[in-house]
Amino acid sequence: MFVSEGVSMLELKMQGMVIHPTLIWDETSAILIDTGMPGQLDDIKEAMEEAGVPFDHLKAVILTHQDFDHIGSLYEVVSQFSDIKVYAHELDKPYIEGDIPLLKVRKEMEDIINNSPKAKITDTLEDKEVLPYFGGIEVIFTPGHTPGHISLYLKKSKILVMGDASVSENGIMKGPVERVTPDKETALKSLAKFKEYDIEKVISYHGGLCEENVKEQLDGLASLSSK
Ligand SMILES: [Zn+2]
Repeated sequence: MFVSEGVSMLELKMQGMVIHPTLIWDETSAILIDTGMPGQLDDIKEAMEEAGVPFDHLKAVILTHQDFDHIGSLYEVVSQFSDIKVYAHELDKPYIEGDIPLLKVRKEMEDIINNSPKAKITDTLEDKEVLPYFGGIEVIFTPGHTPGHISLYLKKSKILVMGDASVSENGIMKGPVERVTPDKETALKSLAKFKEYDIEKVISYHGGLCEENVKEQLDGLASLSSK
């Protein structure tokens, strides 16, 4: 789904639901934010094609965090390239690289995750760091859902790629899902950080695009931590 000039929200199927990696692109290059479930390389290729972006334009992958539905096809994607950047926050890096077990893995996924090859993070990201791609991608450190969770602010389009900082449903932001958010207090505090940004649209990995009353909704999320 085309969201803004050079920004597409992909749709991948996951156990009867839809998840939303974000693709940022121009004529010659593209960056993928999050990589779906294990075994979704072909789905990602197809979704990129639908967005009109050739798969071989990929120059970098940014991971919002370590959960298996975000890093699932990372290895398959990066193994298609001889030179591709992989970005993540330092605190989630050892989990993603397999040095420590992922914090949250569903029982039925354990074998697949443990036995699959791991990709390396080439560059770690810090809060407020701005990656110099496509008019600037600013990192917002939003821990709580995982220790190294980040959200990404696309400066040119004023789009916030939320990751799992909050899920949404039919354009309504719902906050983090308690069951999969080990540090809820920190997760709620993280939501207040979005107030500093001029945000026009939000992409949630689970729930997709929010484009109505965005500022009011973000204010609402920010106030959750004081309740
Ligand atoms: Zn997650």
